[in-house]
Amino acid sequence: ITRSSFGTKDAFQRLFSTSHLQRDKQLYSRLAGKVAVITGAASGVGKATATEFIRQGAHVILADIQHDAGQAIAVGLGPNATFAFCDVTKESDISTTISLAVKTYGHVDIVYNNAGIAGSLTPSVTELNIEDFDKVMAVNVRSVVTGIKHAAKVMIPRKTGCILCTASVTGILGGMAPIDYTVSKTAVVGAVRAAAAELCKYGIRVNCISPHALPTAFGVKAMMQVLPGVTEERVVEMIYATGELEGARCEPEDVAKAAVFLASDDAKYISGHNLVVDGGFTVNKKFDFPPPQ
Ligand code: NAD
Repeated sequence: ITRSSFGTKDAFQRLFSTSHLQRDKQLYSRLAGKVAVITGAASGVGKATATEFIRQGAHVILADIQHDAGQAIAVGLGPNATFAFCDVTKESDISTTISLAVKTYGHVDIVYNNAGIAGSLTPSVTELNIEDFDKVMAVNVRSVVTGIKHAAKVMIPRKTGCILCTASVTGILGGMAPIDYTVSKTAVVGAVRAAAAELCKYGIRVNCISPHALPTAFGVKAMMQVLPGVTEERVVEMIYATGELEGARCEPEDVAKAAVFLASDDAKYISGHNLVVDGGFTVNKKFDFPPPQ
């Protein structure tokens, strides 16, 4: 390569200037050296977040019950990714996974309680099986509180740390999901507020992200169950079509980028916050006036 291949001397200098390289380094090193544990990382939001965290310089433990998928994703992400089998309904699995991060890297900076299930899909509260309700609460809420507990235990002595949780727009608006899922996601927001209030004196920030509907395994499988005979492609289109922001679709990467922001020093004074990633959906309810006479 010669200078002449780049045209002007200015263009050559711009391409290889220190400031250009520094800017790229800053752009992709927002989590440099940070250690993160992400639950539900073998699919959807967790997988996208693990990918983005590693791109931003973090070491990530991907925790999930899907052993083979999780292992393959970790191998694909390279040496900064490690898979750990972890059933978030078991407190011992969560504490072991966080201990693994401490043993491997010496400390943990970020714990993202993201694993979740869609629940019973019961269309009406009158048909709700209370045992199904307990299952949803175990995966979506009890695990989040357990994750916060064990994250706090290793973060308090260091007087720093970032805890993230995945809630949902269904934790803001009723009528968007069955009652069990809606209750579970509302509870996540409550857990985040309580933990943020308690842990701020230790320099630990606690936040959640509330995504709009996403075409992940979770959402697609749930819709295919309630709409038998409809193809997967159609279901994905239907999920995208629920969004209201013109020209954009809600993707797992949008949630991942919100997580990078909340986990990075750019959000150093943000705690107790529910970052809604919904393209304005939850502020977009309009009056539907009946037609004049
Ligand atoms: P997903 O199905 O793609 O991923 C969920 C992951 O959680 C899977 O890898 C699954 O194996 C794992 N998981 C489930 N039970 C587990 C357990 N007991 N222990 C460990 N891991 C377990 O779905 P997703 O959309 O990426 O879901 C991630 C989070 O986002 C969930 O908390 C979900 O409630 C939330 N969310 C999803 C949507 C949506 O429309 N998909 C919208 C808002 C919020």
